[in-house]
Amino acid sequence: MISKTRFAPSPSGLLHLGHAYSALFAWERAGREPSNFILRLEDIDIGRCKPEFETAIIEDLNWLGIDWETAPLRQSGRLIHYKKALTILQAQGLLYPCFCTRKDVEREVQAAANAPHGPEGWLYPGTCRHLTESERGQRIAEGQLHAFRLKMKEAQEAAGPLIWIDRNVGEIAANPSVLGDVVLVRKDIPTSYHLAVTVDDAAQGITLVTRGEDLFHASHLHRLLQALLGLPVPVWEHHSLILDEEGRRFAKRNEAVTLKHLRETGVKPNDILERIGL
Ligand code: GLU
Repeated sequence: MISKTRFAPSPSGLLHLGHAYSALFAWERAGREPSNFILRLEDIDIGRCKPEFETAIIEDLNWLGIDWETAPLRQSGRLIHYKKALTILQAQGLLYPCFCTRKDVEREVQAAANAPHGPEGWLYPGTCRHLTESERGQRIAEGQLHAFRLKMKEAQEAAGPLIWIDRNVGEIAANPSVLGDVVLVRKDIPTSYHLAVTVDDAAQGITLVTRGEDLFHASHLHRLLQALLGLPVPVWEHHSLILDEEGRRFAKRNEAVTLKHLRETGVKPNDILERIGL
């Protein structure tokens, strides 16, 4: 079945073989049809994203034979849409400001006897959840930087039981609590990966979300956000990650496996397809 898919890299570095796999996977599922394939530049982390990486991404994808009809979407130009989504969650009373630094949380987690952990490490212990309204107001008035976290328990209660479908696994009961009270608005950026990706997948009519299995758990949360925001629900397909000869994931800092380096040193797109087994 042909779907509308997307490839959504962050232009914070050069693409490597792992990205080539992910992009070609989405391209295959789009039936190699430019009108079914979206390139989205997840550039909300403006400090780390650079125009030269955007250019290289587009060149790399075209070199691999991937093409699209819709102009690439930059998330940095969509902050107003993320703000609207936040307002909806705020109106449901499902967010709270969090003033903690990473260090604060780590200290607290270490001090606790049984700090809860999820698939990505510790879960937020809920420190700022218990602040009073006047404490919150005072800290905000003092100009203390704060993120916004989702009240996971209340959010799940508001949405009720949910299911989602992964093409490889089948029907899955959504269990977003494995991620705890996640950050939906970062301290430094007025959104987060989770919020932006959910809003944009809906806005762009994506019917099949393809991405690496390292993000499998994020899909539980995205399903919950879709329910709370009244957004359409796609199907998911999480692919396995390709690894280097030593069994490690490819990293942006390893220049030798960047697509730019490979194409500039005479490697052909077919060699890449063979190397990644697609
Ligand atoms: N920007 C994310 C990444 O590069 C996209 C993940 C996704 O496809 O949802 O990992």
